[in-house]
Amino acid sequence: MTFRTSREIGGSAIWLVLWEIVGLCSSATLQAEVPPAASVESTRPAPVTAAAVRQHIDYLASPRMAGRGGPQRLLAAKYIRDHFGEAGLLPLFPEGEFYQPVPGARAIGDDQDAEAPIIGVNVGGWIPGSDPELCDEYVIISAHYDHLGIRNGELHPGADDNASGVSMLLETARAVSRMPVKPRRSVVFVAFDLEEELLWGSRWFAAHPPWPLERLKLFMTADMIGRSLGNLPLPTVFVLGSEHAPLLQSTLDQVSVPEGLEIARLGIDLIGTRSDYGPFRERQIPFLFFSTGQHADYHTPRDTPDLIDAEKVARVSNVVLAVALEISDSEEVPVWTDAPPPSLEEASAIHRITELVLEADRTGARSMSGVQRFFVSQVHAKTGNAIKLGRITEPERRWLSRSSKLLLLSVF
Ligand SMILES: [Zn+2]
Repeated sequence: MTFRTSREIGGSAIWLVLWEIVGLCSSATLQAEVPPAASVESTRPAPVTAAAVRQHIDYLASPRMAGRGGPQRLLAAKYIRDHFGEAGLLPLFPEGEFYQPVPGARAIGDDQDAEAPIIGVNVGGWIPGSDPELCDEYVIISAHYDHLGIRNGELHPGADDNASGVSMLLETARAVSRMPVKPRRSVVFVAFDLEEELLWGSRWFAAHPPWPLERLKLFMTADMIGRSLGNLPLPTVFVLGSEHAPLLQSTLDQVSVPEGLEIARLGIDLIGTRSDYGPFRERQIPFLFFSTGQHADYHTPRDTPDLIDAEKVARVSNVVLAVALEISDSEEVPVWTDAPPPSLEEASAIHRITELVLEADRTGARSMSGVQRFFVSQVHAKTGNAIKLGRITEPERRWLSRSSKLLLLSVF
């Protein structure tokens, strides 16, 4: 049942009833002029482009933003809010606000009655779903916008971490807002503050959501999506978390992946809590984390816009968008599963990565130390064996988990 259907039915009584139902979600659903006979084609969004994400990254990582660490962070928040407003998103927070102020934690010994000072601000907007029965269910796309600011007199531009993710956020918001027929569930866009401060912005959001979190069907976040693991020439985006919801696994299998990009699906336990999915994972809300991986410029002044692969950012953005639309329109929603069985998929992903790493080493694109080469070769051989046998046991999976941690977080 959609607003478009109500027009087709005609009859003012039904129309009024539907107005009531639709009104629960928002008037914006009604403002959007839905053509009565919109073709399937027109329900697909225009893809996010490299030129569009590039503009945001260059601006957000420019010296003017001072590394989005001090008070200049508000300039970034305002940039995001303005963009949400221009795209026609509705404010997400009470009293028609795009901003959610985030107070600091009270220390022991502080006056517990006094209000804690505001130390940050989340920025959120949303696009109401077009199905009156599903529009009070939500899919979140998010990225943190804060970074390290100026440290030891040096600007930390944070182009990859995480102007890249914010550019995805802004352009997917624009893409959905321009769709003539909106997704059935509501799509929510949040830029978190204070991720670099123990995920304080997303923790505050999850503890003070705009609606009960049971209505949140999928949480997605992207953190560092414009470079590659260890600066290796990898076409890879790592997608973690799908092991906790079978529907997300099948969605990732079916979603169309732009040419030049490869998805490597990994279990979240390989890296633990490293970004804003943490508070949602703790609440057992199905989630996906997108990242192109850590590199030597991570958290240094060398994380600059010129090193960003904007094509890659656009490709990853289009995958996030496709997953969001798929789940927003789906009959089924992802359901949390606690203990995923060992999956060969993960071994395949690691096998592929190690293959690319060894190839880069062979061709001289990036040389490894002897120890690194030995380690990577060993992981490659063992995962190859598991693939050949067509199964992976629990002890092998534990070994793979330990090795992958080393590979992903410390070898490079
Ligand atoms: Zn980050």
